[in-house]
Amino acid sequence: MPTLLWFRRDLRLRDHPALAAAAQNDAAGEVLTCFVLDPRLEASSGPRRLQFLGDSLRQLSSDLDGRLLVVRGRPEQRIPEIVTKIDASAVHITEDFAPFGRRRDDKVRAALDSVPLVATGSPYLVSPGRITKDDDTPYKVFTPYFSRWRDAGWRDPARTGAESAHWLDPSAVKIRTCEIPDRGVELDLKAGEAAALSQWSAFIDDGISRYETDRNRPDLPGTSRMSAHLKFGTIHPRTMVADLNLRRKGDSAYLRELAFRDFYAAVLHHWPHSVWWNWNSDFDAIQTDTDAQAERRFEAWKAGRTGYPMVDAAMRQLRQTGFMHNRARMIVASFLVKDLHLPWQWGAAWFLEQLVDGDMANNQHGWQWCAGSGTDAAPYFRVFNPTTQGEKFDPAGDYIRRWVPELDAATDAHLRKGDRPASYHEPIVDHAAERTEALRRYSNIS
Ligand code: FAD
Repeated sequence: MPTLLWFRRDLRLRDHPALAAAAQNDAAGEVLTCFVLDPRLEASSGPRRLQFLGDSLRQLSSDLDGRLLVVRGRPEQRIPEIVTKIDASAVHITEDFAPFGRRRDDKVRAALDSVPLVATGSPYLVSPGRITKDDDTPYKVFTPYFSRWRDAGWRDPARTGAESAHWLDPSAVKIRTCEIPDRGVELDLKAGEAAALSQWSAFIDDGISRYETDRNRPDLPGTSRMSAHLKFGTIHPRTMVADLNLRRKGDSAYLRELAFRDFYAAVLHHWPHSVWWNWNSDFDAIQTDTDAQAERRFEAWKAGRTGYPMVDAAMRQLRQTGFMHNRARMIVASFLVKDLHLPWQWGAAWFLEQLVDGDMANNQHGWQWCAGSGTDAAPYFRVFNPTTQGEKFDPAGDYIRRWVPELDAATDAHLRKGDRPASYHEPIVDHAAERTEALRRYSNIS
């Protein structure tokens, strides 16, 4: 009997343990592959993420010589329907640990009844839940987690590819299919497995050696840009780590970032409510602004019109490209929470709408880290000064000039020296005053 391989956040053929399991499950290695476009995810993905998904699916389908069945609907209805049509013995998946994915998979498992839903592998190096403290409770602090994470280790990449199974022809399955979405959105990063592999090998050849020194610099191409590929599983992090030489500083620094990705996935797994609620409930009492003035300030932040050059450059980069450098993410998140006093959830939702790499674990916990309400969070009283941050991490102002043309001719793009060009906005708030206000609000809950 054939098996069904249901792709989700694992849109590749190499290093794919669930694919290996699906092929082994049937003596003839007959596998039907499918992807279910869930209208709930289509509605919440944001146009760029949907484009990256569509482009990755087109590449996957072409790598399978068109043998990818794409249907639209609720997975708990469509998956059992396909199983019945081909009389599948099992459905194989890569395990999803995010709250939405877990609920969806529980429903599919129940609907499949006696046909097993077999989970093999995960999108992570060390799957959420695999490591805990000695007393079996989850880690709340990154550094001790990281040390145990390294000791836990991971397997070598799985040897899989287009030749690993006998792919069934989806056109023989009499079922309602759908087109892979293509809204014609332009992305500044190519999607799909081949692009992931070439992006990664270019970074290994000419990037990782400078990663430790350049990774905090938004003005330099100092990071790997692998986040969207990791989000959609067009590459497995294990494939990447196999290329690292951990005796080199840059490679070790990179591994640490991949550990952060695993850490936040584990935190969300253990505390699913932290997806939209403060992980540290003490912060439920902090006073935030949500009135008409707050709405206006939020719009200015979204549009990159705050009058703070570093914040505006970052917000415009996000709006125009769907990407923002990590340091810039921290600066604009701190500004939203501590200078504008808005709920972090507003900023997180805008990021999810715009980002190509938008990911529930990394985004929500990146925001909670900045807001002070997350695990291991930045202390609330550490308020980023957006001008000083700009001077430190964009010293010549190149990043600002690239995204804020009004400041192109300014003698000092950070506006510490020289005049503010008439075409550039006045600051919407006074940082020094808002810092004091943030600390006042914090003192009420601490
Ligand atoms: P690199 O520096 O090349 O890092 C390599 C990989 O390590 C990344 O691709 C990512 O998978 C992982 N990584 C790096 N930094 C972090 C981090 N701080 N936390 C967790 N994983 C990390 N990352 C996302 O993938 N999706 C998000 O939605 C997201 N939202 C964020 C929101 C905020 C407020 C903050 C502060 C950070 C957020 N991050 C998010 C983390 C980080 O900014 C991005 O992963 C990184 O900028 C992606 O660029 P890169 O691939 O070039 O990074």
